[in-house]
Amino acid sequence: MSDIIHLLPDSVANQIAAGEVIQRPASVLKELVENSIDAGASLVQILIKDAGRTLIQVVDNGKGMSETDARMAFERHATSKIKNADDLFSLRTMGFRGEALASIAAVAQVELRTRRADDELGVLVEIAGTRVFKQEMIQCDEGTAFQVKNLFFNVPARRRFLKSDNVEKSHILTEFYRLALVNTNVAFSLFDGDEEIFQLPASNYKVRIENIFGKNAKKRWQQQLLTIETSTSLVNISGYVGKPEYAQKSAIQYFFVNGRYMRHPYFHKAVLLAYNQMIHASESPNYFIYFEVDPQTIDVNIHPTKTEIKFENEQAIWSILSASVKESLGKFNIVPSIDFDQEGSVDLPTGISVENVRPPQTNFNPNYNPFGTTAYKRPVLDWEDLYGGFEKKESAIESSPDWQPNFNSLTTGSINSSEQQKVIETIESRAENFQFKNRYILTGIKSGMLMIDQHRAHIRILYDLFMSQIENRKALSQQVLFPEVLELSADETLIFEQLLPDLYHVGFDFESLGNHSYNVKGVPDQLGTASVIDLLLNMLDKAKTTAEDLTTAMHESIALSLAEASSLKAGQRLANEEMCDLIDRLFACSNHNVTPDGKKIMSIFTHEEIEKRF
Ligand code: ADP
Ligand code: MG
Repeated sequence: MSDIIHLLPDSVANQIAAGEVIQRPASVLKELVENSIDAGASLVQILIKDAGRTLIQVVDNGKGMSETDARMAFERHATSKIKNADDLFSLRTMGFRGEALASIAAVAQVELRTRRADDELGVLVEIAGTRVFKQEMIQCDEGTAFQVKNLFFNVPARRRFLKSDNVEKSHILTEFYRLALVNTNVAFSLFDGDEEIFQLPASNYKVRIENIFGKNAKKRWQQQLLTIETSTSLVNISGYVGKPEYAQKSAIQYFFVNGRYMRHPYFHKAVLLAYNQMIHASESPNYFIYFEVDPQTIDVNIHPTKTEIKFENEQAIWSILSASVKESLGKFNIVPSIDFDQEGSVDLPTGISVENVRPPQTNFNPNYNPFGTTAYKRPVLDWEDLYGGFEKKESAIESSPDWQPNFNSLTTGSINSSEQQKVIETIESRAENFQFKNRYILTGIKSGMLMIDQHRAHIRILYDLFMSQIENRKALSQQVLFPEVLELSADETLIFEQLLPDLYHVGFDFESLGNHSYNVKGVPDQLGTASVIDLLLNMLDKAKTTAEDLTTAMHESIALSLAEASSLKAGQRLANEEMCDLIDRLFACSNHNVTPDGKKIMSIFTHEEIEKRF
């Protein structure tokens, strides 16, 4: 038998290797921009088309390449950045493997134009699928321009693997932020087709942060960032950390070392430790922290797409970092200002399961909302009022008709407006309910006493309403007299666009002002007094942490945010009719026991429990 092992042709080997380095358009952008930075560029202009599928163009004013180098650059393991293994430990450049261009040229159609300052003519190289199609001298600007077209044109499986345009664009932005936030002496522009996404002048860290993320009104960076600055023989740490009150669920957090973005879960803990007790456990502070260390003491020679970096003096740096963050929180007199009062659940013994409670009979009108009107002027029956005298208490209880007959069946048919009066009569002829601490509704049922958290009950009611509006695509909108402007950052715009159809379905109306800004022209009819801009930003925050395939999760998240923002709050006094209506509407809900996020809505004191106390 003959031998069967042979070497793969370059084109195949390169294509396989490319799989490691180039996974999506964002990886191309990262590699090209890193090369521009290594070439000493002070201006990098980026253009993408179709989320980078058809074009990623990076033009720089760096040192350019000679004719031979321009051709050599596409060979595998061809690099100008290191010569021997020792150089790996004194790296000052982003690149050093000499793999990126070979990989890109294996899976895309690439045009390179480049000229050094002292050369009269530049050179054009056209290469696709590792084959060189053209190499000629041309007139061109000083610096280097790469055009990478039709990524994965020869690897259909990879092409199919790409996600939606918005997802690919958000990957591109992620890479862009990581480069732009640390290379602040470089001016960047980023265009998506004709649309300008960023135009960032050369500046310093703080201005760059502001230029990238500062449009979002919620993140007023100037007032929320505290400087950190520590200089030791092991490490220099500089940058900014957010004040505790600006902590959020999806915080913006960046670590860089020697000009390179890194992830470092261990150092992340050091930062969190400094915020101990100052922020809620579910939230995290924003930070932008830049480390400078001797290149000999870190190992960046990890997988090309990975961002973890090993530090020789990890523990010492951990302590220095934590102390440094603590110091700046202390220096700026940051005292805990977060209200930790989690709206506590009513912790009451329940002898019987809430499932056993049958809903009251009602002529339920889903459109009827007494909280939105001033129709009721009846004096509110308060716990104190009712219990001012013992007799009064006795009679109040005695005169309450037992709810039980009403609990036997439930009709949820909606009624028209001519029947509204009937609803009111039904309510008025019903039980007196008691509002305790302007927060809980107490009502008698056959088996004892039912206690309902008014805020949570209303969240459940509104959540069901908003969900059905999203699903049935009809909701009432209310035009806003003085529209507020929603200003977003580029990545938020991508997520916001995904939310838009659903937002329209629940009654929002927007007018695009361009440049990631929107006029909020209409809001859901049911929306309470909540700040619309804060509400929308909160929804965006939630959507950011939702999984990629998000239709249902997105619907739920929108409905919940709206319900929370529009709901009755604890502390709001309710008239008896309002309480009756709330109870009716609650029991018409698919799940009246818990809120959509799993909090208990009601609790029962059984007769036995009550009697035992006397
Ligand atoms: P690496 O960056 O790891 O060296 P690459 O494949 O990314 O490998 O690039 C190969 C070489 O091509 C670089 O070492 C550099 O000499 C040259 N090169 C690439 N891009 C540029 C650029 N924008 N300007 C000048 N030289 C470049
Ligand atoms: Mg490179």
